[in-house]
Amino acid sequence: MSFKALAKSQPAVAAVLQRSIENKRLAHAYLFTGDALEDMALAARELAKALNCESPTKQGGCDKCEACQKIDATTPPGGQHPDVQWVFAESKSRRIRIDLMRELERLLRQKPGMGRMKVGVVFEADRQTPEAANAFLKTLEEPPDRSLILLLTVQPEQLLETVQSRCQRIQFGAAGAKLNPEHAPVLDALLALLGESGSVLAAYRLLGAVRGFLDAEKKRVEAEVEMRMQLDRYREVKDEDWHKKMEEEREAQVEAAYRRARGKLMVGMEWLLRDVLVCAQEADAKLLFHQDRREALVPLGRKVGLERAMDNVAVIEEVQEQLERNVNESLALEVALLRMCGLSAPAPVVT
Ligand SMILES: [Zn+2]
Repeated sequence: MSFKALAKSQPAVAAVLQRSIENKRLAHAYLFTGDALEDMALAARELAKALNCESPTKQGGCDKCEACQKIDATTPPGGQHPDVQWVFAESKSRRIRIDLMRELERLLRQKPGMGRMKVGVVFEADRQTPEAANAFLKTLEEPPDRSLILLLTVQPEQLLETVQSRCQRIQFGAAGAKLNPEHAPVLDALLALLGESGSVLAAYRLLGAVRGFLDAEKKRVEAEVEMRMQLDRYREVKDEDWHKKMEEEREAQVEAAYRRARGKLMVGMEWLLRDVLVCAQEADAKLLFHQDRREALVPLGRKVGLERAMDNVAVIEEVQEQLERNVNESLALEVALLRMCGLSAPAPVVT
């Protein structure tokens, strides 16, 4: 398959990995994040092949030699190559326990047996128990020679900050990920805003649509956590500390689920703005992520123009960073959306 297959769904990722191998500037550890776990697994496999193939080409592994075939093997999942180790969550607990990470660590510290590089792939790295993540931290701090660690996750925010900071992050595009139909009103309002440049009304309509989606999500995740935790059943428990702890846990779970939902909406908006940028560059419309909106996007790209299209992508990236840092959500969103319609200052707040 080689990197060519990856390039179909993740061209940017394939290019970065290929270039890093070519220039021999591969990091010791990567954090693969984004929406598409399958694409991340594909990238991990292609990378392992490129590094261990008996006759690699610029396109990566040859797919034919023994090393490539062992890495491609599906039993056990993740392959049969002795130098490539995959770690999956246990099927019952859905957790990655400390012993699994210790085993991986041991393998990474050995010399490669068959190939040139040891590759450890942690699928759904966010499933690690805190003990597992802590134990593995040492390996990340002092990665063994000729080893490569790949952490795959759709929820990077669940990983320890110290883990995140020790890995080079590679963002997988949303291609291949399913579009959430409930994002549609927000995306419609975003397109309307871009079409009516300078309209404060359009900006507030978009803000209203975003607010509407987020409020509904909040209710949905609250109900979901409620159902999962079934706290009502424990009303009889007298221990107040226990109730306090459970309440904190409930709040933390709601907050985390809400953030994930908000993050996905922001990514959906970012991809629409990237589509506008693609159209502003008059690039091939086949590259568009939101193919269903192609007819609206093509003329809009020309109208918005390259400079504003680029600014808008920067604005949405910035607001995502701000939201990760716990800023005031409403204010951050409002300022961002007003900037997108060409108004740099936030409207005066009426109290
Ligand atoms: Zn090969």
